[in-house]
Amino acid sequence: MTNDEVVRSRRLAVMGGTFDPIHYAHLLIAEDVRRRFQLPQVLFMPSGSPPHKKDYEVSSAEDRYIMALLATCGNPHFAVSRLEIDRPGPSYTIDTLRRLKDELGEGAQLHFVTGADAILEILTWHEPDAILDEARLIAVPRPGFDLGTLDETLGARRASKVTVIDAPLAEISSTMIRRRVEEGASIRYLTPRPVIEYINKRGLYRRTVRREEPDGETF
Ligand code: ATP
Ligand code: MG
Repeated sequence: MTNDEVVRSRRLAVMGGTFDPIHYAHLLIAEDVRRRFQLPQVLFMPSGSPPHKKDYEVSSAEDRYIMALLATCGNPHFAVSRLEIDRPGPSYTIDTLRRLKDELGEGAQLHFVTGADAILEILTWHEPDAILDEARLIAVPRPGFDLGTLDETLGARRASKVTVIDAPLAEISSTMIRRRVEEGASIRYLTPRPVIEYINKRGLYRRTVRREEPDGETF
């Protein structure tokens, strides 16, 4: 985040995620939010060790970071941060937001971008109310998730802190991409070409290793 314009304006959008791998829906949303709120930068923030249990072996932070770089390098308003991947221990969004606000100084304004699935789960995150205090939350619709239940899920007071926007819908997920690679299906047009080449070169997702529970149940 060493962009002069960002430091001057003290405004920034942050897009957190596992990005395993980053795909076109992430990019589409980021660009929509950037334009809509006229922000100088969207900072993609790949998580370090995800605090929420995942049902598959997450790729290394370095691979996820490199794919995010490859996907975003053509957009001068996009940047990728190493903040969470270089921080030991679980990645908590609240720690990241506080750190970025400190860096930006007095009057900093953060926009934290989430898809509908993520915002509906925010109460399960570490210090959800502090997150809602530190950043303006931007919720983007996602096929299969109903943002109409936001009030019910968060309570009206909390929900009032979230801005829901009507960004274009794209039914793409990293899960879909991992699955397709595993099955040998094409992932063309789901993520930028250099990301596809990197996945092939590194042999990522060829065989997603599923973790097994002690009783042998695969989940
Ligand atoms: P996975 O399938 O592994 O969970 P994902 O596609 O959901 O991957 P994440 O890295 O988990 O990607 O998500 C990062 C952020 O992007 C989250 O806030 C998520 O809600 C949002 N997001 C991802 N894909 C979409 C999409 N197709 N539409 C709207 N939001 C999305
Ligand atoms: Mg996800």
